[in-house]
Amino acid sequence: MPEIGPAEVLIRVANCGVCASEVDMWEGNAGIEFPRHVGHEVSGVIERVGADVTQFAPGDPVAAWVTGGGFAEYVAVEAEYCLPADGVPLDLALGEPLACAVNAVELTDVALGDDVVLIGAGFMGHLVHKLVELRGPGQVIVADARDDALARARAIGPCRTVNVREESLAEVVAELTGGRGADVTFEITGVQAPLTMAGEVTRMSGTVAIVGYHQGGTREIDLAAWNWNAFRVVNAHFRDVGVIMRGMRTGMRLLRAGRIDLSDVVTHRFGLDAVATAFETAHTKPEGFAKSTVSMEA
Ligand SMILES: [Zn+2]
Repeated sequence: MPEIGPAEVLIRVANCGVCASEVDMWEGNAGIEFPRHVGHEVSGVIERVGADVTQFAPGDPVAAWVTGGGFAEYVAVEAEYCLPADGVPLDLALGEPLACAVNAVELTDVALGDDVVLIGAGFMGHLVHKLVELRGPGQVIVADARDDALARARAIGPCRTVNVREESLAEVVAELTGGRGADVTFEITGVQAPLTMAGEVTRMSGTVAIVGYHQGGTREIDLAAWNWNAFRVVNAHFRDVGVIMRGMRTGMRLLRAGRIDLSDVVTHRFGLDAVATAFETAHTKPEGFAKSTVSMEA
């Protein structure tokens, strides 16, 4: 049982999401030191509050930003890194990944009527898609190589889906935009081929947002073309805690208000005793998979 400081709260963890960045650690990739105490997508109920904590009381449901150790019955965390989750099912109160998606969409600044291309229809792609929908886009085109992922995307909002194994995304975007290209393209895969595609489908002076987590080696882009096309390139990766918390605050407000709902994108649930299977599932990505979460109460 962790001890708490005066500014901390003790959370009885209800759920912790399995993050793609942790699957890398689970695979044992080089350059990572072990042991690691993973788990940072925590939701739960406040069990105890520190002497200086006034904004929460025992029994309050919260989503929390923690740096690790979330696959546990209890975590201690600064109260300022917790946000209310009233009325939100705790297995769907995934504040931390939502923070990344909120910040990506806000920094990219999708405008009303923008034609938007989303490359990657995994969990993060779906979150970005849901938030783009709230912005009131024009046409939305979603690309992926998995039909089940594209079917989920079509349920999120009206969009043209492209299975890149069967169709050329560049051709579809050119056709739908009269040869102009997308106003905004989100690359949400973290691999090379979609990054190249992003440069091929974006209009002159349009925005390319890099949301994917580009691990494992360097990437190549046709910088001459990107430069000539005057792309606005947005690095949608956030490290500053203040920025992460701002995104999480916005994401939790949207969840509490019912503006977004994650019930269709949390696809696989496990108990703590099956945490290894939760990771294995996030690694193998079986048909129908978008996100694993681990429940401490199951
Ligand atoms: Zn995460």
